[in-house]
Amino acid sequence: MTDDDYGADALIVCDSLVRIYQTDDVEVQALQGLDLLVDEGELVAIVGASGSGKSTLLGVLSGLDAPTAGRARVAGRDLLAMTSRQRLRYRRDTVGFIWQQTARNLLPFLSAAENVELPMAVVGVRRAERTARAMELLDALGLAEKAHRRPAELSGGEQQRVAIATALGNRPKVLFADEPTGELDRSTGDEVFAALREVNTSLGTTVVIVTHDAEVSSQVRRTVAIRDGRTSSEVLRRDAGGPAREYALIDRVGRMQVPAAYRRALGLRDRVRLELESDHLGVWSDDGEDER
Ligand code: ADP
Ligand code: MG
Repeated sequence: MTDDDYGADALIVCDSLVRIYQTDDVEVQALQGLDLLVDEGELVAIVGASGSGKSTLLGVLSGLDAPTAGRARVAGRDLLAMTSRQRLRYRRDTVGFIWQQTARNLLPFLSAAENVELPMAVVGVRRAERTARAMELLDALGLAEKAHRRPAELSGGEQQRVAIATALGNRPKVLFADEPTGELDRSTGDEVFAALREVNTSLGTTVVIVTHDAEVSSQVRRTVAIRDGRTSSEVLRRDAGGPAREYALIDRVGRMQVPAAYRRALGLRDRVRLELESDHLGVWSDDGEDER
């Protein structure tokens, strides 16, 4: 594979993505050369400890934040080359975003229907069309009866479903959700996750969900783990909810993270011996035998 065709068919491509925050004298490397490919139509969960760079990644991919270096492309748009005007346009019609804080997704003084219509009004969709589309989306999310209510008159789960409808108005290619179930109890969280899954299957929208929730990641086919600003491992299932298989990721220059438990079990550190077999790779701790 040459450098140029890395992720050529993918909808989302992150290639050695770097984001450095500069605050006063301190430099925080939130993304440290992250590689990630997501295909069109996928539903992917991203997991990782607090501070591992998940929100930073979603911020970059959704055009809210500009990366420091590397390559990021979504639906053919180069996120490093965009002007601020193009970035604004991208945020309005190529991607949708759902925050953890239910209150941050919706305007409190507008009804559910008016909230859903707003992003469409901003890009110039005519009134009749946006009213019809808002009702269609609220109906699809089971909220047709509550279209006239304001956010404060809706439960947390209902507010998040209105947020999903709002994010879908302009038919985005990708929906990003940053811990969308984080503030909700179990059953309400499940209901919001079910709505995201429904959007993925019935509208075909690609969905990327950052979550702390082990339950959510067991319900998707692909879970990507981020560690220290890099993708470190993936869990894949043939069927959502089915048995899982964990994979380590090899980056483009061949680096791989060996899970801590494996390193401990075999005393792997500093230097290991690799042996190429016909169908696998052997890894041995360097026990100093050769020097003896
Ligand atoms: P996560 O969402 O996985 O918890 P974040 O992407 O929010 O992680 O943060 C990754 C790292 O970047 C953390 O060390 C965090 O403190 C730092 N960080 C995030 N946002 C900023 C910012 N605006 N200014 C400075 N540092 C930040
Ligand atoms: Mg976060």
